[in-house]
Amino acid sequence: MRIFDPHIHMTSRTTDDYQRMHAAGVRAVVEPAFWLGQPRTNVGSFLDYFDALLGWEPYRAAQYGIHHHCALALNPKEANDPRCAGVLAELPRYLLKDSVVAVGEVGYDSMTAEEERAFEAQLALARENDLPVLVHTPHRDKAAGTRRTLHVVRDAGIPPERVLIDHLNEMTVGMVADSGCWMGFSIYPDTKMDPDRMVALLREYGTDRMLVNSAADWGRSDPLKTREVADVMLATGFGEDEVDRVLWRNPVAFYGQSGRLDLEPGPQAGPDHAGNTIKRG
Ligand SMILES: [Zn+2]
Repeated sequence: MRIFDPHIHMTSRTTDDYQRMHAAGVRAVVEPAFWLGQPRTNVGSFLDYFDALLGWEPYRAAQYGIHHHCALALNPKEANDPRCAGVLAELPRYLLKDSVVAVGEVGYDSMTAEEERAFEAQLALARENDLPVLVHTPHRDKAAGTRRTLHVVRDAGIPPERVLIDHLNEMTVGMVADSGCWMGFSIYPDTKMDPDRMVALLREYGTDRMLVNSAADWGRSDPLKTREVADVMLATGFGEDEVDRVLWRNPVAFYGQSGRLDLEPGPQAGPDHAGNTIKRG
């Protein structure tokens, strides 16, 4: 079984996690830029973090046989801090880097005007750079937040097939299915979605445009939740091809739109390694 976790914060995880993930079948991850828990007080703090997601973390992942790509953005929560606003001016040069396969995570946290401004500015950056977007949806007041998120995405004029709306549940999946955007689900040990509820949604909505992630980070979370979903799928009548579609081919199709996904076997090949990049279209 091959697994691609399309949303995981490996910065917050140990090498034991990488080892366990590889043993469970995880061969690729995308790490979106997020809030580290401790608020950042200046732009340089973000840039060091972005450089870690571009350099150090892929190096660490490669030692465990896992391909690491990232999504970069000013996260929703810190978009509220004026000391961090300068990150938006630095992002364009970072979005040109080879292992950046999306802009993210962007979106709403508390649905403030500052968050909305950063969200819109970064949707425009995604459009200009021809990159997919990973959109976080708020954990409080999720239905209203998701509805407003879809309005902002539509107004930005970005094609829905290049947008992933994440952290969905039974209440919000329907409106995102109708929008044409990709649907992301974070499977947590005790909040949000669990594997059984996830598989019920796959049965109801099908496997098209569906992405399952662990969103594992510094909080209570589990990087093997993707594998658990695969196991429940198999135990409840889904075939191996459907599991491969949800846990591998869907994330490859979504992030492959960047033209920068490099999933050649062995250590990650450099950008000059001819023919190793999955091309757009
Ligand atoms: Zn996240």
